[in-house]
Amino acid sequence: EARFNIPHITDVFPDAVSYPSTFCLKMRTPVSEEFAEGYPSDEKWHGYINNNDRVLLKVINYSSPSSAGAECIDPNCSWVEQWVHRAGPREKIFFKPEEVKAAIVTCGGLCPGLNDVIRQIVITLEIYGVKQIVGIPFGYRGFSEKDLAEMPLSRKVVQNVHLSGGSLLGVSRGGPKVSDIVDSIQERGINMLFVLGGNGTHAGANAIHDECRRRRIKVAVVGVPKTIDNDIMLMDKTFGFDTAVEEAQRAINSAYIEAHSAYRGIGIVKLMGRSSGFIAMQASLASGQIDICLIPEVPFNLHGPHGVLRHLRYLLETKGSAVVCAAEGAGQDFLEKTNAKDASGNAVLGDIGVYLQQEIKKYFKEIGGADVKYIDPTYMIRACRANASDGILCTVLGQNAVHGAFAGYSGITVGICNTHYVYFPIPEVISKPRVVDPNSRMWHRCLTSTGQPDFL
Ligand code: ATP
Ligand code: MG
Repeated sequence: EARFNIPHITDVFPDAVSYPSTFCLKMRTPVSEEFAEGYPSDEKWHGYINNNDRVLLKVINYSSPSSAGAECIDPNCSWVEQWVHRAGPREKIFFKPEEVKAAIVTCGGLCPGLNDVIRQIVITLEIYGVKQIVGIPFGYRGFSEKDLAEMPLSRKVVQNVHLSGGSLLGVSRGGPKVSDIVDSIQERGINMLFVLGGNGTHAGANAIHDECRRRRIKVAVVGVPKTIDNDIMLMDKTFGFDTAVEEAQRAINSAYIEAHSAYRGIGIVKLMGRSSGFIAMQASLASGQIDICLIPEVPFNLHGPHGVLRHLRYLLETKGSAVVCAAEGAGQDFLEKTNAKDASGNAVLGDIGVYLQQEIKKYFKEIGGADVKYIDPTYMIRACRANASDGILCTVLGQNAVHGAFAGYSGITVGICNTHYVYFPIPEVISKPRVVDPNSRMWHRCLTSTGQPDFL
């Protein structure tokens, strides 16, 4: 049995009519209808996904419940085995393509691959036969701002959008109340909503789904998780993350060259990661040029005999230069707390990079000085075009979002799990952010590669 139930249109409308899907057959008529008839029909070749198909979420045999990373619920059990729903086209669909008005909205911050996902959603909808596809401009705000018109979308419009970063539709934070969004969905006659965004956006999407249920209107709400930080539970990775790690290499390399070429040079690179240090960890592992990696999950001392500053002194004495990589959420305890919030209600963080730069300069002032340079590549990375592997991930996620909506699912999001594509109920993936486990093998591999001590 699957670990999670995913909400389906028939939960609310038990008598909902389903239609046979022509999706796979259309895929098989590249030239013309008559020509296609010349081939034997072999639907299994493209194949439909059965609603009961499951993907293994996790199976690990721990030799004891105290093994590193063991998550056994039952302390006597050393096996963890969980299944989730497989994504993909279904033989029966719950929307007639000619009756569909689909809308796409992108919210939160930018992330490489947004345009790739938009593009693939539009293309897949058209293959199903949907004629009415619109983009809601500038996130959830586009539902309420009177001067923002819906953007008609078609294959022609989206053909080349993946060649540049950003979002064709624009993004924003904050916006109208959920009930106003659903009013607007009803007024516009939208019955499929594709929501691209992070945890805030998904909380919104789930609330929209619940409100549609409450009003008993037949609307499928499907999310595509957008988080460059890779901080979504249960998924192998999210789109944009690979591109971010790759792009971060350039900033790290620049910091390294600056530090290495300067007398007593120290480079600081701040990378994305408000609550999860995956980008900083992976970028450090990939570059091999980082001496100290600081992430939000792992506390550290700056001053004191085992602090970061003492280790930097040791590095300058032994190597002549050093490079520090800090995730934006690292060391927030050192920074003055403000109650500032952004339009979506997220706390505004202090700048750990600036703080480190100041403290390092102060520390070395009396002991030979240090040439400290700070690079913050955040906006350069977020605005990048997706790399090849993210491009593929976005393509498959976009297609599966459309398949999920046609299959009658709502309040779900798509993801990759053990290399298979799956549907998750939204609440399961946003209950808490995924974080780097300080006891994990991967974090210890990172420590081995940087050679940094514990700083405690
Ligand atoms: P990012 O990873 O870039 O932060 P995000 O989706 O978390 O992406 P937010 O700015 O936090 O970005 O939220 C995006 C949108 O979701 C905003 O328009 C915000 O109003 C809405 N939103 C956030 N949290 C909720 C919530 N709990 N319920 C309803 N809507 C929400
Ligand atoms: Mg967020």
